[in-house]
This record gives sequence, C-alpha cells and structure tokens, in this order.
Amino acid sequence: MNYDVIIIGAGPGGIFASYELLKLNNRLKIAVFEIGNALDKRKCPIDGKKIKSCIHCQTCGIMNGFGGAGAFSDGKYNITNQFGGNLYEYVGKDEAIALMQYVDAINCEYGGKDTKLYSTANSHLKKLCLQNDLHLLDAQVRHLGTDVNYIVLENLYNRLHEHVDFYFNTKVDTIHKIEGGYEIVSKDKSYTSTYCIVSTGRSGSKWMQNICESLDIPTKSNRVDIGVRVEIPSDVFSHLTDELYESKIVYRTKKYQDKVRTFCMNPKGVVVSENTNGIVTVNGHSYNDPSKYTTNTNFALLVSNKFTEPFKSSNEYGESIAKLSNMLGGGVIVQRFGDLIRGQRSNQHRIDGSFLTPTLKATPGDLALVIPKRQLDDIIEMIYALDKVAPGTASDDTLLYGVEVKFYNMQVDIDNNLETKHKGLFVIGDCSGVTHSLSHASASGVYVARKIAKEVINE
Ligand SMILES: Cc1cc2nc3c(=O)[nH]c(=O)nc-3n(C[C@H](O)[C@H](O)[C@H](O)COP(=O)(O)OP(=O)(O)OC[C@H]3O[C@@H](n4cnc5c(N)ncnc54)[C@H](O)[C@@H]3O)c2cc1C
Repeated sequence: MNYDVIIIGAGPGGIFASYELLKLNNRLKIAVFEIGNALDKRKCPIDGKKIKSCIHCQTCGIMNGFGGAGAFSDGKYNITNQFGGNLYEYVGKDEAIALMQYVDAINCEYGGKDTKLYSTANSHLKKLCLQNDLHLLDAQVRHLGTDVNYIVLENLYNRLHEHVDFYFNTKVDTIHKIEGGYEIVSKDKSYTSTYCIVSTGRSGSKWMQNICESLDIPTKSNRVDIGVRVEIPSDVFSHLTDELYESKIVYRTKKYQDKVRTFCMNPKGVVVSENTNGIVTVNGHSYNDPSKYTTNTNFALLVSNKFTEPFKSSNEYGESIAKLSNMLGGGVIVQRFGDLIRGQRSNQHRIDGSFLTPTLKATPGDLALVIPKRQLDDIIEMIYALDKVAPGTASDDTLLYGVEVKFYNMQVDIDNNLETKHKGLFVIGDCSGVTHSLSHASASGVYVARKIAKEVINE
C-alpha cells in the first residue's frame, strides 16, 4: 500500500481527520487529495469591477481547496445537537458535544483564542421569542470570523503539511475496492491505502452519488431548504446579535404549518453569491475585524422541503428554483420587502431610493416569479413574526436576495463508526448527509480518525 490512510477532500472533515490521525500516531502514512487549490492560491475572480459575477471557474475558489467550503465562511462553529447535522444519532449526544468542544479547543489553539464564544444559556431573549410564538434554539457559537478562520486554517496547514502528503488540484475520479484496502484513481495515476476516508462535502455531492452506485452503497434522498437572504440595518437586530451573535429562531406558520427558520446570521456582514455545480445562489459572511464591519446584518430565512414517494430528487427541485432566478436575473435577484408585498418588482431606481444600501450587487427583480407561493407565503409570515421581536424587520426597505438554497447530500448508509458496508471505507462531513456545518463536519473527522488509530494499534 502507498498509504495507511487516504483522505479525499481537504475541507474541515478531511483536515480534522488528518490532524487527529497525525496527533494519535505520527508513524501513519497519510495522504489528502483535493480537487481545489492550496489555501494561499484560492481566489474568486469576482472583483466587483472587471469581473462582476460568477464566470464558472473549473474549480470554485470559494467552495474548493484547502479549508473546503468553509475557508472564506464566517467561521461560526456552533456547539449544539439542535442544528448543523445529526452526528449525535450515530455517536451519541454527549460524545457529539465533546467532539465539537475538542474542535473548538483546537481552533483556539491554532489562532482563534481571542474570539468570542456566545451562548443562548440563560438568555432573556428565549422568553421574548416564546411570547411571540418564535422558538430560539440552544447553542454555543464560536465566531472566528472570515479573517481569523483563515489564520486558523493557515496554522493547521503548517502543522500538517510536513507529515501529510497533500495532492492539490487533483480530483479523485474513482475508488476501487482491492484486497486489504482501496485504490483511488486520479486521471492516469492510482494510489492505494488500507483505509479511505471520503470527505468531499456538498460540492462533491454528484460525485459521491456515482461512487455509492459503483460500490453498491445504499443511499436515501435528503431534504432541500429554500428561501431568501434578508438584509436589514444592523441596529434592527442588534439586541439579538450583540448577545447571541447568531440566533437560530424557528417559527411554525399559521397558514401551512410549515417550519421556517433563521440561518447563518451575519451581524454587520456582507451578502455574497455562491456557485454550486454552476448554479448561483446567495449566502453571507462577516468579519471579526471591526474595520471590516458594514452597517447591515444579513441572515437567511429557509423553509425545509422533504418529499415523499414517488419523488426522490429534492436537490433537483431546489436546483430548478435556483436556475429560474439565474435565468431571470443572470444570478441573484434582489427585491425590497415593500415591493414584494405590493406585488411589484424592484428596479434599480427603487433600490437606489431606499434607506438601505445593498452589500451585494444583485439584479433587482421580482422573487414572486421565482419562489413557489407556499414557500414565499411562509417567508412573508415569518418576516412579520420576526418584526414583533425585532421591529423594523418588516420594513419596506428590507432587502430580500434570492434564492438561498441549502442543498443536502443524500444520506449515505453508514454505521455508528461512520463506516460503509465496506470495511475501512468511511464517509464523513457533509458528503455523508449526516452533517451540514463546520463543527459537525470537523467533529466527524476527529471521530473517524480515533476509530482508525485505535484499530491500527490493535492490529
Ligand atoms: C459561503 C459559505 C459560508 C458558510 N458559513 C458557515 C458557517 O459560518 N458555519 C457553519 O457551520 N457552516 C458554514 N458553511 C457550511 C460549511 O462550510 C460546511 O458545512 C463545511 O465546510 C463542510 O465540511 P466538509 O469537510 O464536509 O466539506 P467541504 O468543506 O465542502 O470540503 C470538501 C472538499 O472536498 C473537495 N472535493 C470534492 N470532490 C472531490 C474529489 N472528487 N476529489 C478531490 N477533492 C474533492 C472539495 O474541493 C472541498 O474542498 C458555509 C458554507 C459556505 C459555502
């Protein structure tokens, strides 16, 4: 075998798996294969001047490369079992929290120690939400910020790269099961290992599906979340964000009894576009450095859609809606809340005349032509509900960017060790369908590394 362990994907799952393997046994031969660039070479060409929107690069500077989809993210590491994935269903609730706390300690050790850990414990805001039919979920959240998150990744890479073989710009095409391990193939080269950890994230979802088919690993369809990114003056939400940084608030709509939730809150942050498999959707982030603060706060409002038989393609449903917005707006569409309520499209004139300056250059338009009525009604109802705890949310000038889609990978059939039916082949992080956050993906990497290190010692 060329290696003891091959890891596919250098996102948080792959990074923390290699970190823990190295820590537990520095004699292990480890390789990490990554389709994208090394951290210092990752760059999105959009500069707002010459290149204003996505030019569909071969590998996306935002989604691929060392650090994975999280590299330029807001770096919010949530320590909770209430959202971010269902790792606890596999490893147990206490173990899941302990793993996330361990990841937090490493992030602090590698550059994040001066960042703040927020908590919902004993917050009076819980009561305020409940009094208004809103439910604030329990969590601790470490906000590294985009800037510190980058430094932590840089330090982790410096720790790893002398002991671990990194193959950047190297897409793994296939995985073959061979006697005593696995062979992975990239173009005309192949590499073998006893253990293989797949951690290809959400951007590798279609690839993962093919791998599962070729290795006969069962999968189940997952949900897709559709919604908008809301942008408001930061003062409107400051009582929530100052205390909690990120509040995950859930509301059940009166009309359809659907659950709508806030997601990925970025106080004083910016709205950004993101490209997944050629489809442009919206996201957001914010910096830890006060000199990079904006006067706006943004967050997503998402409605979960889980389909029953015979429909299985929840991701394609989400993609179709995102494609519609790309078709009408050439990318992301922005609309003022007041325009949406009055049934009129937003145009540049109305956006320019509003009191809120958008942080993303998007195409003014009409989200009612893109988002299905049910989800749009849900979102409008939620905005009015939030207006009760944060007056000003339902203002005419509130900006809605669409569409925000959270794709989830199909659920890969893995056991409580996160191991497939093929011994030694593990699937971790977002590509497993089990996690969908930085902390859960990282924790799953640590968990599997410990399993492998223990097995190697016992051999
Ligand atoms: C803009 C943005 C902001 C976000 N903000 C937050 C946040 O604040 N908090 C939070 O908890 N989560 C956030 N997320 C989500 C978070 O980034 C992911 O949940 C997390 O990165 C998942 O980690 P992962 O290791 O499973 O996958 P990824 O981070 O997606 O990493 C997978 C890696 O595998 C590589 N890969 C894929 N296929 C192949 C292949 N065939 N061969 C070789 N390499 C391959 C990819 O290039 C990628 O680098 C954000 C995501 C985005 C896009």
